[in-house]
This record gives sequence, C-alpha cells and structure tokens, in this order.
Amino acid sequence: MRRARSLADLVLAALCLWAAWYHTPPGALLRTAFARLFGARSATPPLLSYYGAGARTFQLAEPLPPRAVLSPGAALGLGAQSALERTSPADRAQVLARAGLRSGSADALGDWIGREAQRQGSREAAVLSLFCGEEAARFARERSGSGRGGASLEELARQLPPLYADRVALAATALTLGTAYALGWPLPDSAQVTSPFGVRAHPLLGARRFHSGIDLGIPVGTPVRAAAEGIVRRASDDRVSGRLVLVDHGSGVSTVYCHNDALLVAPGEVVTRGQVIALSGNSGLSTGPHLHYQLDLPRGPADPLLFRAARPPQLASGGTEP
Ligand SMILES: [Zn+2]
Repeated sequence: MRRARSLADLVLAALCLWAAWYHTPPGALLRTAFARLFGARSATPPLLSYYGAGARTFQLAEPLPPRAVLSPGAALGLGAQSALERTSPADRAQVLARAGLRSGSADALGDWIGREAQRQGSREAAVLSLFCGEEAARFARERSGSGRGGASLEELARQLPPLYADRVALAATALTLGTAYALGWPLPDSAQVTSPFGVRAHPLLGARRFHSGIDLGIPVGTPVRAAAEGIVRRASDDRVSGRLVLVDHGSGVSTVYCHNDALLVAPGEVVTRGQVIALSGNSGLSTGPHLHYQLDLPRGPADPLLFRAARPPQLASGGTEP
C-alpha cells in the first residue's frame, strides 16, 4: 500500500514538473536558457504568448487580417476622409461644398487631392487647400516663398493667422493618416502575430504595461523590409529593444523594427519601400525569435494592424514598452 502511494506521488510529481516545464513562463525561460546554453535551436514559443488573455491558450499565434493594398492617392483620400469625420456635419458640408465635391468618399477626396497636388505642386498644399480653402492655401504658398511644391505643412501653416489652427490640424491629421494607410508590410504575410498591440501583462516585469507594437514570430535571419520609403533616423543596439532600425516616412509617421540579428542600414540613409533593412533575430529583451514592429504617429504608437486593414484607428498615446 505504501509503495503504491509513493509510486503515485512520484507520477504526480513528474506530471507537475512536465506541466511546469512546458506550460508556464518560468519553464519557457528555462527552456530558452538551456537552448542558448547548448547552442540548440529552441522551439519555445515567445514568452508573451503565455499571457494571451490573462491565461495561456494553445492558440499561440494569430493569422494577419487581410491587407488592403492602397495606392498613395487612395491612401491619402482615406486619410482625408478619416480627418473629415472628426469634424461636425456642418463643417464637413462646408469643406466639401468649397471643394465642389458632392461626396466625401475616400475615392472622391483622393482624386480631388491628386488633381490639386498636380496644380499646386505638392500634396501638402493640396490638403491645406482642402481644409482651409484655396485662397488661404495660395496665400500660405506665396508667403512661404516656396512657389510650386517644396514647403512642408508646418512652413505653410506658419504663414496663416491663428484662426486657421484647427483646420491646419485636420490637414496634418489627413497627411499623417494618409501616409500610414499607404505603408506596406515588413514581412511576408505568413508571419503570425504572437503578441498584439495594446495593454498586456508584461512577461518579465509583471505589471500591466502598454505594448507599443505587434510581435511577429519569425525565424532568425528573416529579411525585414522598410514599410515605405523614408530616412533612417536610428540604427542602434540597446538592452531592451535589441538591434533596432527607425525609419521616418514624413508627415509624423515613423516605423520601428526591433530585436534584429543584423542591421543593414545606417542613420541618415534614404531607404526605398520594400528595401531589406535588417535580418530579424532575438536580440535585446526577447524570449524567442520575433520582430517587434511599431508604428509611431505624432500622438503616440498606433496599432499597425488597423492601418494594414485600412480601418479607422483610435489613436493611442503613451507607453514605450518594447
Ligand atoms: Zn513587442
């Protein structure tokens, strides 16, 4: 009888150890550490996946939502539409009437901005013209001395009296959203989301923190591509984000690529859309090979999946967790 009981205890203890090893975050940490120690490739899922909705589920990763591929013109139309929807119906009607538009659809706005950009020399001037009126836009263009094209929205806006501040802010929002809607994707669509954007329990620090990007599970060495053309502002290495690249796409939009194995670009470099800028890895504060992909807008990080699917974002703010 005693022998049977101690055998049962032994089996129970072995079961507990097995469960702890494969199904708890400390087990995952140990497995990752052992794999590193012995140079083996670890099949351990990223630690974040243990914190799905407060408890680990066996669905470790989620497929990406379908991508809405938009031309830059259509993306800007959608940005302008999203900005217009933040105004009162009366304001919206006034903007559309002044532009001679019957519809406030993304297509109609995109076409109008495209035509005006041709005529006025830049998309910044065209968007300013949509929200502030053609006269104000022409005045700003002439005063800024830029003639056709050239001037940034800030330079144009500086020429206008303060009463235009709200309208200028809408133009800036339209340009920001339009730039973000036009972004491509840094990885093949087969890469799955292992940790979504938003508030989550931090795997190593415990407390609930804001996850400022999305984690995409991929093997070490996967090419990481610039989501759009831009200027590399950072190509650096730190203990938290690992080897990271930050690309500035203009209009307040930047993308950040963290935890890489190797960086292929340097600060100040101009990159094209789709250019391979890094090879993915597991560097920094990371418990499994993945890319942390982050979209930064002027008010803070936003969920890249919303822009991928061309859905209106609830602009988030605050938080800079890896
Ligand atoms: Zn992350």
